[in-house]
Amino acid sequence: MLSQLREIVEKVSRVEDVHLALNILVRETCTALNTECCTIYLANEERQRLELMATQGLIFQGDSIHIRFEEGLVGLVKRSAEPLNLAEASKHPAFKYFPQLGEKVYHSFLGAPIIHRKKVLGVLVIQQKTPRLFNEMEESFLVTLSAQLAVLIAHAQSQGHWSLSSKPAAIQGIAASSGVAIGEFWFDNSQPQLAEVCPASTLDKEREQEWLLVSIEAALADFRRMRKKFDSEINKDALAIFDLFTHLLNDPMLRTDLKKHIERGDRADWALRQVVESYSNRFARMSDVYLRERAQDVRELGQRLLFFLHNSEHELQPVDRPVILVAHELTASLLASIPKEYLLAVVSLEGAANSHAAILSRALGVPAVMGANLNLAEVHGKKGIVDGYTGEIYLEPNKQILREYRNLITEETELHAIVNQELAEPAQTLDKVPVELLLNAGLSADSNIAINSGVDGVGLYRTEIAFLLQHRFPSEEEQWQQYRAILNSYPNQRVVMRTLDIGGDKALPYLPIEEDNPFLGWRGIRFTLDHPDIFLIQVRAMLRASIEHNNLSILLPMISGVRELDDAVRLIEQAYQDVLQFAPQVQRPKIGIMIEVPSMVYLIPVIAKRVDFVSVGTNDLTQYLLAVDRNNSRVADVYESMHPAVMQVLRQIRQQCEKYQLPVCICGELAGDPFGALLLLGLGYRSLSMNTSNVARIKYLIRHSQLSDLQQLAQRALDMSYGDEISQMMRAHFIEHDFAGFVRAGKK
Ligand code: PEP
Ligand code: MG
Repeated sequence: MLSQLREIVEKVSRVEDVHLALNILVRETCTALNTECCTIYLANEERQRLELMATQGLIFQGDSIHIRFEEGLVGLVKRSAEPLNLAEASKHPAFKYFPQLGEKVYHSFLGAPIIHRKKVLGVLVIQQKTPRLFNEMEESFLVTLSAQLAVLIAHAQSQGHWSLSSKPAAIQGIAASSGVAIGEFWFDNSQPQLAEVCPASTLDKEREQEWLLVSIEAALADFRRMRKKFDSEINKDALAIFDLFTHLLNDPMLRTDLKKHIERGDRADWALRQVVESYSNRFARMSDVYLRERAQDVRELGQRLLFFLHNSEHELQPVDRPVILVAHELTASLLASIPKEYLLAVVSLEGAANSHAAILSRALGVPAVMGANLNLAEVHGKKGIVDGYTGEIYLEPNKQILREYRNLITEETELHAIVNQELAEPAQTLDKVPVELLLNAGLSADSNIAINSGVDGVGLYRTEIAFLLQHRFPSEEEQWQQYRAILNSYPNQRVVMRTLDIGGDKALPYLPIEEDNPFLGWRGIRFTLDHPDIFLIQVRAMLRASIEHNNLSILLPMISGVRELDDAVRLIEQAYQDVLQFAPQVQRPKIGIMIEVPSMVYLIPVIAKRVDFVSVGTNDLTQYLLAVDRNNSRVADVYESMHPAVMQVLRQIRQQCEKYQLPVCICGELAGDPFGALLLLGLGYRSLSMNTSNVARIKYLIRHSQLSDLQQLAQRALDMSYGDEISQMMRAHFIEHDFAGFVRAGKK
């Protein structure tokens, strides 16, 4: 059964023409289930009807046959989103006879909804002449087939194929950074090709051997990751190919041959080309067809390994005009490599709204859409629109859509000018309640962060970027220089520097960490406490950098228990004593922790005496509280930053901090979100840290809000059951107070 299922789905997935593909589907399903009739209907939401797309067994010559959503058994399956199994269809009260279909001969009916992400995309039906209930096996076959088909249909529709809508189809991704851009899509297709690698020699054989090993390990890790990714999907060829690659890469003969070439003085990429070509030629000469075909696989493996050999050295094609950057997986280094003035928007196939790349896009003020199903080869060079508010992408849009979006961009520009007029004014509510506005910095590669006149200091300086953009750990001197530049930029203000928080979606290229659950793994303080050497170097660099202005606070990420805190504080003290030896003027920094692992919410009474402040990381706190990966586009709708439980925990943190007189700031993305910031004020928070691009907007909102209104909103939010109820309430508040442009300037 399983193999039959797979075969059907694979056959269908290979065909681009919708009618042809669905004809194959119904024919194959009849054969597999030994039934006389199989029909597929797709839903046309615009017209509220199901359209017969293909059938075997009914009368249908490609003419249009529709069933309204409220009609007949097929409509019932669509509405109820449940399978319907009947021995005698005509006896069911919802039965409706469609004479043009010639259904009279069939008695039994089994219909299964085709559901993707809670949405019924269509209905798959089998029918038989004998009046009998379909058995459990048949029912589960049809349900499984529908589930797999749903993925194919959703994918095809997201690419603009198989769509029944008359509107130009937008490719739907996850809105990750607000704003709108119109421009040319740009994808770096300049990956080096194995066939183009030229003979090159090396003097440093050892370095070359090491480089090769690191690349092989990185490739193996990538194959494991890809294998896992495809595991739940339908393409068994994809699975097999990654197994084969892994097997080949682990083959001692291949490794020895590569080594031998390098021993002779060949550079690693040149060694790779020679070995791969010799292997693939050997396969190509074999008489067995199967083995002959493996020649291509070996070349593909070589190409992939070449990618890892060049990965961190490969220079991106220079970008010399404004573009919409498209990437398979957006990384900080990729973003950093394109001049800001040329970055109209970014689109990433992987990731979700709180992936670090998304946060970075927001920090840069660049519209971003994540988790978009784009065909990379197809989009490069095409014109289109990226809507960072809705997550929609339009490829080669028509004039009407272009006009709508041009208007939207004009409104955005106007709003920008309005909010920036008040940037230098104090952040206080209409009733004069002051709010501390701080900056989140550091994710950008630019160490020269703009001195933002509208802020009271830096609430979160992420130190990871310098570690991510290198081939090795940065030295104490390098770190010192970088931290000093930041601390000197804010001589009279507090700068909160966070110690290294790698792991999760921030892996160091030179220290691959492979884990099943990276967000629950070796992250943040867990990593640095296991490497006190790295931690001490970093803290010493920070302390030395703070000597001139004594404006440093140190923030510890991912603390999940008091022992970690105590151990980290001990190491900071050790570093402090070291620096004190040669710089007696250095002051002990204030120390705080991130509240981002839920355990720490309960431990506030215990830590209150041990730390000077806490900073709430709502990005991770939400992820851990709701058990939802912040980086996974499949569960992006479960990641609700205004989930009622998040509201409750934020209230609890606020109350506990007040009780124990512990200063608290919010540095997660919620603080820079228009709805989030106002709710946080209503909950009692008075210190918010956010990306530069949000400061002016949030300040404007604060300055035009009455605290008592916000308190009422927060109170109502705390009584609500659903996250979307909270968003709706906030949306209504924004419309009522003329703030609508902050969440969606115009369209929809
Ligand atoms: C957070 O988790 O909310 C946070 C501010 O840290 P990061 O996004 O860097 O994990
Ligand atoms: Mg965090």
